[in-house]
Amino acid sequence: MELLDGKKLSHQIKEEIKKAVAMRIEKGLKIPHLAAVLVGNDGASLTYVGSKVRSCEQVGFKSTLIRLEDSISENALLLKIKELNNDMTLDGYIVQLPLPKHIDDEKILLAIHPKKDVDGFHPANFGRMALEMESFIPATPFGIMEIFKRYQLDISGKHCVVIGRSHIVGRPISILMSQKGQIGNATVTLAHSRTKGLEKLTQKADIIVSALGIPNFLKGDMVKEGVIIIDVGITRVVDKNHPKGYVIKGDVDFKDVSRKSSYITPVPGGVGPMTIAMLLKNTLLSCERNTN
Ligand code: NAD
Repeated sequence: MELLDGKKLSHQIKEEIKKAVAMRIEKGLKIPHLAAVLVGNDGASLTYVGSKVRSCEQVGFKSTLIRLEDSISENALLLKIKELNNDMTLDGYIVQLPLPKHIDDEKILLAIHPKKDVDGFHPANFGRMALEMESFIPATPFGIMEIFKRYQLDISGKHCVVIGRSHIVGRPISILMSQKGQIGNATVTLAHSRTKGLEKLTQKADIIVSALGIPNFLKGDMVKEGVIIIDVGITRVVDKNHPKGYVIKGDVDFKDVSRKSSYITPVPGGVGPMTIAMLLKNTLLSCERNTN
């Protein structure tokens, strides 16, 4: 079994981005600039946004954190989005989800200009991705594809079962893995909460991408020998013995499944760090597309 070390890969990618930024500075080109909008004080969101901003600093990007009260009206937030769309100094921005209940996520998402949508959630980007046109690929599936690429895992013709059909992970990764291209051409089954006989599918899979958010869901007896496992799940599980009061768990019963797998991502340290690295990559791409 070989560990797919997302932490190590994400460091490599950040180093490459750092070099690209240094080159841009040397040539007098624009420094990439990412903004993050955070509404309210949700603990997990604060952690995620904080690490995104820190990562920008690590690679030499400019970053702006925009914190808004959770009482902000939908209209006021839409005005802020308009302002960010028109801000020529920004290459991209993200709106951290979830938003307060009185705000319609979809309305906000649709208001983000596709050229600044470095999360790749806007339908224009999603559609372009599905049609294999230039777009922003959502950071988590982009990170998974990068793991396949950098570990030189040949997924062509392999049977992959993706568990979970969310718009940000399951559905896009199922499209990316099945499309033509250097990394792709897999035969993909997209499983979800209504799938019947999931074990029968996973037991035959060469690759399993698990993105459902149930800790230790995937057990050893559900997979075949030599399977490649990508564990996307991140769930906080209460642990009074841990200083933070919780531990992070993936969807995969690591001890059980790693005995049978050829390659496996750990949690933490697998897909998670890749997600942030690919958000930076999208911001750099946006800056290059805008100014080169
Ligand atoms: P989600 O939470 O929106 O949806 C869960 C999906 O799982 C649904 O499509 C549902 O149909 C499916 N599902 C639920 N129970 C099932 C079952 N018993 N059998 C088969 N399918 C089932 O999905 P999400 O937003 O993609 O999040 C999934 C997990 O991935 C969460 O733990 C989340 O925290 C994590 N996540 C991690 C990253 C990262 O960077 N590593 C990024 C995004 C999400």
